[in-house]
Amino acid sequence: MVWVNCWNTTTDSSGSKPYPSSYQVFEQFIQTVAVQVIQKSEAIAKLEDKFPWAQTTLLSKMGLYAMPDIGKKDAPIKTTLPDALHFRRAIQNVQVRDMELEIPLQPKSGKLSAAKFDDDIDFSTVQKAWWDAILTAYKYTETCPQRMPLEMRITGSSNIVMAPFRGNNLGTCSIEVLTLGVMKNAWPAYAQEVLNKWMDLKDKDGNYLTTRPHWAKEWHDFQSRQSSPAAGIVYSKCSKPGVFALAFDDGPGQYTEELIKTLNAAGAKATFFFTGTLYGCIYNRASAVKAAYSSGHQVASHTWTHPQTLDSMSVAQLTTEMQKLETALVNIIGVKPTYMRPPYLKTGGNVPTAMRILGYRMITDSIDSQDWNGLSVSASEQKFRSAGPSTSDGKGHISLLHETYATTVRDLVPRLIKWAKENNLKMVTVGSVIEPMKTKRW
Ligand SMILES: [Zn+2]
Repeated sequence: MVWVNCWNTTTDSSGSKPYPSSYQVFEQFIQTVAVQVIQKSEAIAKLEDKFPWAQTTLLSKMGLYAMPDIGKKDAPIKTTLPDALHFRRAIQNVQVRDMELEIPLQPKSGKLSAAKFDDDIDFSTVQKAWWDAILTAYKYTETCPQRMPLEMRITGSSNIVMAPFRGNNLGTCSIEVLTLGVMKNAWPAYAQEVLNKWMDLKDKDGNYLTTRPHWAKEWHDFQSRQSSPAAGIVYSKCSKPGVFALAFDDGPGQYTEELIKTLNAAGAKATFFFTGTLYGCIYNRASAVKAAYSSGHQVASHTWTHPQTLDSMSVAQLTTEMQKLETALVNIIGVKPTYMRPPYLKTGGNVPTAMRILGYRMITDSIDSQDWNGLSVSASEQKFRSAGPSTSDGKGHISLLHETYATTVRDLVPRLIKWAKENNLKMVTVGSVIEPMKTKRW
């Protein structure tokens, strides 16, 4: 069902009436209070995960039933502009979780910046946005995160200086997904997925649309286009070509200081994903940690105890794993890392949630040397040579290596340095190629 709201403007105010009528406003007030009371009750709040279909169907039906009466078909309603714009008054008092974007309407031909108000509009972007939300909702039929009707408003252009739509010469499509305010669990992932799709909309030249967030909606904890490294997100390669991120796990160990000397002599920077206890306590190898840090290598986290089952741990357990290592690094070098590599590259379960809360970017790899798996140095080296200097989409590699093997430190690393130099690859820290290090960010 679609409720379409169309108003024409006139300069003749004769015969205009308040809309909705006082009776309708009272009726809307009662509906609002009813929804609020229902949703505030604890019994209902606990039903988030129960009967998702029934709740969604009921609320959507009620939402459409509660739309204002338009009276006789084809009979015009004449009212003042503010009444027309805010035709549905009471609904704004219902507590909802809500995401809304303002998408500029695109011209059928030519550039938007040169478009005139009555040029032909290409509505295919708007249709795509609408179906993006519907298809995403259908992906989540088990939990029904969107429990209220989908909304879209098409408005004309505005040239008022501070209008958020300024420059949208053909008008704006405001599109909105919303649900009950009590939806704690199912909503964020769904809303993020819809947001990703809407922010990915492009014009016919392949450029991103200047889609903007509605300023009064819910944006906390959501991420847009993820152009900078975001906490809780997995990165497996560098963001540009011509670089090579040597990354070592499981230290500090007995060969760490030797490795640092080799790297420094070659003018290479690398990343060390240190653990707290895997090869003895990190406090007993404080000099290796300090040497890595003072030589300009990146010091990052590989958890405190290197658990095998990171992906089945609770957020509280994961927090302990991360914070114990943070404390150690703060004690030894005075800084807290913001990058981590999950042991066994386990990025599932509660790991992304915990890392998002704790502010860690998650690093995996694009080439696994398999030094941990008993592969010979020559075979490991061959993996890099056959992969080539960049990934299939032309980005620099991030390696998976272990500084805890003498063969890796003494034989494989010198070969990889040689390989990188042959290919003109700059050997860099992970943090410097996932994001420009404007501030010292470990
Ligand atoms: Zn490891």
